[in-house]
Amino acid sequence: MSKKVLIIGGGIAGLSAGYFLKKSGYEPEIFEHHAIAGGLVTAWKRKGYTFEGCIHWLVGSSPDDPGFRKLWEELGCFPGIEIVDHEIFTRIEGNNGEYLNVYSDADRFQKELLRVSPEDKKYIIPFINGVKKLSKWQMRLNPPASLMSGKEKMKLMAGIVPFMGEFRKWSKLSVSKYASNFKSDFLGKAFKSILGMGESMIFMLMTLAWLHRKNAGYPIGGSLKMIGSIEDKYRRRGGKIRFNSTVKKIIVENDTAVGIILENGEEIRGDIVISAADGHSTLFEMLPKKYLTDEFRDYYSGGLEPFPAIIQVSLGIGSPCSGMPGAVQIYLNEPLRVDPKTTANELGFRFFHFDPTMAPKGKTAANALMPADFDYWYDLRQNNAEKYRQEKERIAEAVIEILDNRFPGISEKIEVRDIATPATYYRYTLNWNGSMEGWLPNTRFMMEEMKKELPGLKNFHMIGQWVAPGGGLPPSASAGLTVTQKILASDGKDFRIL
Ligand SMILES: Cc1cc2nc3c(=O)[nH]c(=O)nc-3n(C[C@H](O)[C@H](O)[C@H](O)COP(=O)(O)OP(=O)(O)OC[C@H]3O[C@@H](n4cnc5c(N)ncnc54)[C@H](O)[C@@H]3O)c2cc1C
Repeated sequence: MSKKVLIIGGGIAGLSAGYFLKKSGYEPEIFEHHAIAGGLVTAWKRKGYTFEGCIHWLVGSSPDDPGFRKLWEELGCFPGIEIVDHEIFTRIEGNNGEYLNVYSDADRFQKELLRVSPEDKKYIIPFINGVKKLSKWQMRLNPPASLMSGKEKMKLMAGIVPFMGEFRKWSKLSVSKYASNFKSDFLGKAFKSILGMGESMIFMLMTLAWLHRKNAGYPIGGSLKMIGSIEDKYRRRGGKIRFNSTVKKIIVENDTAVGIILENGEEIRGDIVISAADGHSTLFEMLPKKYLTDEFRDYYSGGLEPFPAIIQVSLGIGSPCSGMPGAVQIYLNEPLRVDPKTTANELGFRFFHFDPTMAPKGKTAANALMPADFDYWYDLRQNNAEKYRQEKERIAEAVIEILDNRFPGISEKIEVRDIATPATYYRYTLNWNGSMEGWLPNTRFMMEEMKKELPGLKNFHMIGQWVAPGGGLPPSASAGLTVTQKILASDGKDFRIL
């Protein structure tokens, strides 16, 4: 009889694990807290508009990509999903009319950086050379290191060696440190806003390298289309998923994971348990404390830094917004007080005019994202519904005013507004402190994998963004494949399934 595998969480990691396990002859069942699949890969519909809540770029979108593309194809995304490769990834606008267009093409971006600050050539050229060099790295999908043959390890190393110099050079630097070299104040500031995702220089270079290779495009239809395609393929194979099923405990007997207990008290037994859910609740609440290692305790007590919680203000605009950039980062004349602990000095907007599925014809869905303090918004929602509503309105009003200052008259065209706070993200995904993407990139985990099993606990695995620093769709989806490979190998079966 096939082994039953209980998967906690129906985000991209859980769906991928479900798919590969089913394909490999196991009986997976996904237990998902929310009423729909996708976790953070999500969007929501309001009065004819679809407000995208996730995808900015999808690594592995190019048909020429030798790695992640294969994974997306296997999971059911391609063919079927059309990709847009933005000419300008984002536009950064200063307070005094300065701007920087972040072109996806590295050569164009170099020209643009030199236009903004010719005197910073000394730092611009090596940076762009690094992007171009890294864009040649053919990242492939490999089995977990523990399962690779000597020959495969050598092949992997041979693929990495030509880029070691770049890795070494950029891993030692932080974004702020590099930005501090620029003579132009605007460029120094704008450089930090290009991704605005932590201090990892190598992560920034890799992302720009993927954009340069047209391998980090935006999938038309956004999150709903992607997750819909993946869920559909999983179900067509006979995979099961149970919604509104929050797991409270993992049952452990004789140091072996043997089942789960749902919030309603229901007990479900299985042969293997995989947590593709929030890392903190898995380790600190679902499992007995004795399996928590010092390493993991350290990560969650400051050893690693998580991505922040966020507020997303979504707007339905009754205009095609055709002349407007797809994404723009605006430096504010007056800082925006988001909450008592957070002030925004810049605000990023996205106008989804490049995706006709997001709004009725002639109209545009837009959004603005900003970091926010989880405790403030969570407590407010729990304890003071009226103030929570007022605070959301205050933020929406402030965002609309900023938008109207930049694009005069646009506020009159706004038909729909929607505000998601850190409490919203927590409510629907249970991610620790409302984090938008798990752990920020950390150079330590470039060459070293974070552990996904716990010493002394059999038949249990963790996958997803909380065991893959840097987060994102590709590592979470590929973890579904690698956990299946580990399970196949431990059952003595052929694990080379992709
Ligand atoms: C605004 C935003 C923009 C982003 N942009 C990009 C981008 O452009 N490109 C990119 O690659 N990545 C992006 N990301 C990050 C990416 O979405 C995530 O890193 C990735 O989706 C994480 O997937 P996951 O399956 O590991 O976790 P999750 O998506 O968090 O899925 C975990 C699932 O487990 C469920 N769950 C939790 N606890 C329980 C429980 N106790 N019982 C049952 N179910 C439970 C949750 O409801 C959830 O569905 C973005 C994220 C955000 C928020």
